[in-house]
Amino acid sequence: MKNILIAIFFLVYLYGFSSWCNRYFIYIIIMIVLRTLYLIDFFRGIFLNILNIRNKKVTINYPFEKGPLSLRFRGQHALRRYTVSGEERCIACKLCEAVCPALAITIETDRDYLFNHRRTTRYDIDMTKCIYCGFCQEACPVDAIVEGQNFEFATETHDELLYDKTLLLELGSRWNRGHIIKSDIESGSR
Ligand code: SF4
Ligand code: SF4
Repeated sequence: MKNILIAIFFLVYLYGFSSWCNRYFIYIIIMIVLRTLYLIDFFRGIFLNILNIRNKKVTINYPFEKGPLSLRFRGQHALRRYTVSGEERCIACKLCEAVCPALAITIETDRDYLFNHRRTTRYDIDMTKCIYCGFCQEACPVDAIVEGQNFEFATETHDELLYDKTLLLELGSRWNRGHIIKSDIESGSR
C-alpha cells in the first residue's frame, strides 16, 4: 500500500513538472516572437546609443588605431646583432633552448673561425609552440634573443610560423633600428 501511494505521488509530481515545463516553454516562445515582431532589441540598441552619445568612446578603429601595450608585453621574437660591429650577439650557450618550457627553440652550434667564437648554425623557433613566457630573453646573458612589442604576425599557414635564424636576425635588425630611434629620441641626441 505504501509503495502504491509513493508511485501515485511520483506520477502526480511528474505530471505537474512536465506541464510547468510546457507552460514555461510556450512563454519563452511567445516572448521571442514578440521581441522579433516589435523589434525590441533594435530599439533597445538605438536607445542605448542615444543614452551614451555624449560619453567617451570605448571602442577603437583597429587596425588604424591601437590600444596601449604594457612595457613588459612579450610579442614576436628577434635575434639581435651588435649595432656597431654587426656581429651576432648570440654566443650559442643554449640557455634559451634549455629554459624553454614549450621546447620551441632548436639550436645547433659550431665554432666560428673568423671571430673565434661559438656560433649557432641553426636557430629555430616554432612560434606555434611558444607560450610567450619570456624565459628565453630572461635567460640570455647577452640580450641576443628578445621579444618585441609586435603581436601582428598572424599567418595563413603553419610553416610561416616556423622561424629560422635568417628571419630572426632580420627581425633583430628591425628591432635594433626601432630601439635606436626610440632611445635617440628619448635622449634628444638626434
Ligand atoms: S617565450 Fe617561452 S615558450 Fe616562447 S620560445 Fe621563449 S622560452 Fe620558449
Ligand atoms: S640567444 Fe642567448 S641564451 Fe640563446 S643561445 Fe644565444 S646567447 Fe645563449
